[in-house]
Amino acid sequence: MKAAILESRGKDGLRIGDFADPKPAPGEAVMKVRAGGINRIDLYMRDSGKGITHELPLVLGVDGAGEIVEVPEGSHLKIGDPVLVYPFAFCGRCAACNRGDQPNCVKFDICGETRHGTFAEYIAMPAKCFLPKPEGISWEAAATLPVAYLTAWRMMFGKAPLQSAETILIMGVAGGVSSACLQMATMIGAKAIVTSSTDEKLAWAKGLGAAHGINYRDEKVAKRVMEFTEGRGVDMVIDNVGDASWGDSLRSLRSGGRIVTCGATTGAHPSADIQRMFARQLTVYGSTLGSVEEFRALIDVVARGKIEPIIDKVFNLDDIASGFERMDRGEHQGNLVVDIDC
Ligand SMILES: [Zn+2]
Repeated sequence: MKAAILESRGKDGLRIGDFADPKPAPGEAVMKVRAGGINRIDLYMRDSGKGITHELPLVLGVDGAGEIVEVPEGSHLKIGDPVLVYPFAFCGRCAACNRGDQPNCVKFDICGETRHGTFAEYIAMPAKCFLPKPEGISWEAAATLPVAYLTAWRMMFGKAPLQSAETILIMGVAGGVSSACLQMATMIGAKAIVTSSTDEKLAWAKGLGAAHGINYRDEKVAKRVMEFTEGRGVDMVIDNVGDASWGDSLRSLRSGGRIVTCGATTGAHPSADIQRMFARQLTVYGSTLGSVEEFRALIDVVARGKIEPIIDKVFNLDDIASGFERMDRGEHQGNLVVDIDC
């Protein structure tokens, strides 16, 4: 089959070529991939992969949607089912899995990270990792749900759910997860303040429901947030930016407020400012992907048309490197997608 295969680190290590078809293990199904989403994690895998146990060559791609072509005996799936991949091949037996908290499973694999991913004609995953694709949306739109939208969902509605009467600050709003968070804030009627590097991206975010935009290149973010909130600060901050924005995130919170992070694109070691954290009783917590139940809730909301996935640009598998470059340069607004049209 045709696939995007990481053979060695760096741009030159990613090859589009022939790769062995997946051989499903017992309990696994095979999906013909129609589209896959490009995410920050793909760049990380290409360039570093540090801390993630895997071997090369590896087919990249964590996000994906397609049709079932092979099912294990006794499966709930049928040939031809349109599905999404739940990227987390969870054990189903540990304490976390038993309480439905699959992202904290003690023994898992993630496609595109520790097992072969979605940037290929076919992918095999445990049958329990295929969920029905919402009707009425394109393959490309569906391919953004398992990573960007599911990650956003758990950040927004997981541990300390955003309430409709609250105000949220979303750092670097143009990224896939951040723009999904903005859509979810708009969906529940919460007030959103967003930051970005250009006025064009801020205008785009206002079109998605942002109440205020702050251009972090020429405005002081925390100062502006205090003006917009009449000196109170926001209830919640979404920060996937890391070093460059963390200080502003902490200074923008009200007493008792919370920061949720799922990434650190500018660096992972900002000052913790512990004095501010205890004096103002702030909460900081991390989030990764989402549970199966959260995925079902997201799929339901998308099926009912309450959230429409935002696609920035679609690339052919042969041209996937251009998609990676667009993400690396931060030019995208929303999600980048690869069409697997082989
Ligand atoms: Zn488990």
